[in-house]
Amino acid sequence: MPRHIRSAWLKTLATLALLLLAAGVLGLLSGHVWMCIALAAIGALAWHYWRLRRVLRRLTARHRWDVGDGTGVWNELDRLLYRNQLEMRTRKRRLLDMLRSYRAAAAALPDAVVVVDRNSQRVQWFNEAATSLLGLHHPGDLGEALVERLQPMPLAHWLAGGRNAEPILDVPSPVDPAIRLNLRLIPYSPDYWLLIARDVSKLLRLEQVRRDFVANVSHELRTPLTVVHGYLDMMEPEDFPGTGPMLEEMRKQSQRMAQLVEDLLTLSRLESQEHTEEEAVAMAPMLATLRREAEAHSQGRHQISVVDNAGVDLQGSNKELHSAFSNLVTNAVRYTPAGGRVEVELAREGQGVVLSVRDTGYGIPATHLPRLTERFYRVSSSRSRESGGTGLGLSIVKHILGLHHARLEIQSEVGKGSVFSCHFDADQVRARTETASLPSAEDFSA
Ligand code: ADP
Repeated sequence: MPRHIRSAWLKTLATLALLLLAAGVLGLLSGHVWMCIALAAIGALAWHYWRLRRVLRRLTARHRWDVGDGTGVWNELDRLLYRNQLEMRTRKRRLLDMLRSYRAAAAALPDAVVVVDRNSQRVQWFNEAATSLLGLHHPGDLGEALVERLQPMPLAHWLAGGRNAEPILDVPSPVDPAIRLNLRLIPYSPDYWLLIARDVSKLLRLEQVRRDFVANVSHELRTPLTVVHGYLDMMEPEDFPGTGPMLEEMRKQSQRMAQLVEDLLTLSRLESQEHTEEEAVAMAPMLATLRREAEAHSQGRHQISVVDNAGVDLQGSNKELHSAFSNLVTNAVRYTPAGGRVEVELAREGQGVVLSVRDTGYGIPATHLPRLTERFYRVSSSRSRESGGTGLGLSIVKHILGLHHARLEIQSEVGKGSVFSCHFDADQVRARTETASLPSAEDFSA
């Protein structure tokens, strides 16, 4: 116990003892000792009850405390309570200020921020940008069901994903379809979610400008290149003595440029496409074609095997899927030294299907793997160019697989080889309808 409290106690007890003593003396003089002591004790008790009542009234009334300058226990209690009250008030004010400044910051954000109750999926709070981007209005929309308020945005299924909901990259705003939004759901507490909507219209426009530019440049280059290529093809080395190697190199380079332009055009087309065709892709003839292409590229330098362990077909665009698989197979041949093996396998994977292309080639260092599908990203530029690569092949593969809701997985070990696998969901798998003219699975295995 602190000293001043102890001395207050002693003082109060001493006052009580003095009072009782004085009452005793007065009693002796008047001849009513016990009566005087009892009266003094009752008086002291009444006074203490009165102080206690005062404390209770002050505590419940919540107004400012008038702390007297007495030194008894009741004054000490008053002072202690006053000090606690002051501390609480200061803490509350500080917390309120903090809360206000956080709210002001969230309200001033250029992105729409909506706090959603996780269980009821009702709107708890939103900032100003939520009005311009999502069309939510104060105070009417507070407490409203988010999915209904943001119609026609397809949010019901997305919200059901909760913690695992992938960001929606591009969706038209319910206020103005010209405003394109990027939506993210952040479950920041067990009870509340944060929905963040960002206006990405400008970014998408810039992206479109970039895409159009690449497509236009490629398109403009195509015609002059075809002309140059045509004339070069017509020129015979015999007609121009001493120019043989030069003509050969010019043909090779013009061919490379033509291939580059074709690949760039393919990429632009794939990028601007939102969906792909939904035709049946018969995998037996597809595997047979891949086998022929691998053999043509390899020219007997590799051991090629094609195995069909799935016995199902795919759904999507025949042409695009062939282009993707063919890219992987030619890469496997190009990046595997003579004597190596290239295996193509179609196999079931749960309800889905995986097509993998395995080689025993040079392999790729792990640091390059995450960037391999970027345009013009090459592990070794010289090796890629020597074998006629444009650096766009894997980019094309990734885009095609994206359009088919499939993903590309790359595993590789330097000096041992690589595996490029295309994983397709059950939605893209079709039961195979046996046709007599189609080669059977056994025909593909080497
Ligand atoms: P490129 O036309 O250069 O082959 P790609 O986009 O097809 O372009 O491939 C990108 C890079 O990935 C290649 O330059 C090569 O370094 C590497 N790569 C692709 N496939 C393989 C493979 N099967 N084995 C080793 N490296 C590969």
